[in-house]
Amino acid sequence: MNPCPDCRKKLTRVARGPFQRMAYRRIYACPCGRSRIAEPRPLYSLVARCPKCSRTVLRRRHERDRIDPILRNPFRLLQMLLGGNLYHCQSCRLQFHDLRSRSGDQESDSDVEVESESTRSTR
Ligand SMILES: [Zn+2]
Ligand SMILES: [Zn+2]
Repeated sequence: MNPCPDCRKKLTRVARGPFQRMAYRRIYACPCGRSRIAEPRPLYSLVARCPKCSRTVLRRRHERDRIDPILRNPFRLLQMLLGGNLYHCQSCRLQFHDLRSRSGDQESDSDVEVESESTRSTR
């Protein structure tokens, strides 16, 4: 773990709230309060993925389908409020909001890249 870019002190792990617990594996913060490094969970990075069947074959929708179910929980509500896209899973018909973009048509999985990317993200 890198030291604080601001004061060079060692970062310490901080407690996560319910939303952060879903999105991040660990969060580090500096005692000076100026820097914070979060390690996102690989599952919640990069591409949108169906929360039910874990597939990445999704169709983007502008309006929700009245027949198929939509996933509602605080995490999804937050993504909707932040302007996430509405996706429709092609295999289990579940609809959900997600801030990530679609992975295209292949089952591409770049979780490995995310691991190295995570150490650089400061927020
Ligand atoms: Zn600091
Ligand atoms: Zn699905």
